[in-house]
Amino acid sequence: MAKIKAEYIWIDGHRPTSKLRSKTKIINGPIRELTQIPEWGFDGSSTMQAEGHDSDRSLHPVAFVPDPIRRGDHILVMNEVRYPDGKPHESNKRDHLVAVSDQHQAQEAWFGIEQEYTFFQGRSPLGWPDGGYPAPQGPFYCGVGADEVFGRDIVEEHLEACLYAGIGISGVNAEVMPGQWEFQIGPLGPLEIADQLWLARWLLYRIAEEYGVNASIHPKPVKGDWNGAGAHTNFSTKAMRETGGFAVVEAACKKLGQRHAEHIAVYGAHNEERLTGLHETCSIHEYRYGVSDRGASVRIPLITAKAGKGYLEDRRPSANMDPYEVCAVLMETVCS
Ligand code: ADP
Ligand code: MN
Ligand code: MN
Ligand code: MN
Repeated sequence: MAKIKAEYIWIDGHRPTSKLRSKTKIINGPIRELTQIPEWGFDGSSTMQAEGHDSDRSLHPVAFVPDPIRRGDHILVMNEVRYPDGKPHESNKRDHLVAVSDQHQAQEAWFGIEQEYTFFQGRSPLGWPDGGYPAPQGPFYCGVGADEVFGRDIVEEHLEACLYAGIGISGVNAEVMPGQWEFQIGPLGPLEIADQLWLARWLLYRIAEEYGVNASIHPKPVKGDWNGAGAHTNFSTKAMRETGGFAVVEAACKKLGQRHAEHIAVYGAHNEERLTGLHETCSIHEYRYGVSDRGASVRIPLITAKAGKGYLEDRRPSANMDPYEVCAVLMETVCS
C-alpha cells in the first residue's frame, strides 16, 4: 500500500456549455478496480451546481486511467456529479446515456468522434500575427513546415499522453484554419467514447497549459471566412457493419432527418455560427444526407458505399458538444 495522487475530474454546471473541473485526492494505491476509488465531494456553489447553502455535491467515480502527467501509480478519475442522496445532478448527462445504452445494448453501437479545436495564445489563435490575420486558408490542412503549422509539440505530447492513458485515440491532423487541429477517438461503445473524450479534452487543456496556450472548442473561434470547429460523430450498429448494412445506414440517415431539431438542440451552443452552409457544412436549418458529401448534414463515407456496409458520419455536432448527450440522442433516434 502506497499513497497515490488521484485527479478527480468532473463536468460543471456552466451554461450554455459545461466546463471541466478537477482536484487532487491522496488515496491508497495502487488502484486495480473502480470500486477501490472512494466517492468524494465538492462545493457546488462555485461550479454552478448549487445555490449558496446546502451546496455539497458528490463525485461518483465512473472510469479511471493511468495519469500520463504524474505517471507511476497515479490516476485520472472521471466522475458523475450527484446529490448527496445519490440522485444525479441536472448537469449530469451521463446518467441518461447509461440507461439508453443499456436499452439498446443488443445493437452494439460504435462511435468514432473527430474532436476539432483551436489553440489560442492571448486573444489570437496560435501562430497568428498579433491583432492581424495569416494568409487565407488553403495550405494549412495536414500541412508541414514552420510557416504553416503551429502547436505541433503540444499535439504530439497530447497524443503520447492519450496513448499512455489507454484512451482509444485513433489519429490526429492539422486542420484547415491555422492553429486549428483535430484528434479522433474510437470506434468505441457509447460510454467508453464519451468518458474518454472528456478525459482527452482534460489532457489537452492540461498539457497546453504548460505551454501558456489555451485550447478552445468554440464552434466558431474566429468570425468571417475561417472554418469553424466541429465534432463529427461517426456511428454504426452491428447491422450496419454486416452484409447488407448499406440499407440499414440509409434507413438511419432518413430517421435522423425526422428528428433534426431534437439533435440540433444537443449538438452544442453557438452551432448556428458554424453550420452556415459554407466551409464544408450544411445550414443548421436544413437536413441532407449523401454519399461522400461534405456539404451534407450526414455523410455516408465512400468506403461504406463501396463495401455496401459500414457507418455514417453525422457532421452536425459542434466541437463543444457533450458526447454523453450526442451519443444518447443518436441511439434514441437510430436504434429505436
Ligand atoms: P474524416 O474523413 O471525416 O476526416 P476521420 O478519419 O477523421 O474522418 O475520422 C473517422 C472516424 O470514424 C474515426 O474516429 C474512426 O474511428 C471512426 N470509425 C471508423 N469506422 C467506424 C464504425 N464502423 N463505426 C463508427 N465509427 C467508425
Ligand atoms: Mn477528420
Ligand atoms: Mn476535421
Ligand atoms: Mn469528418
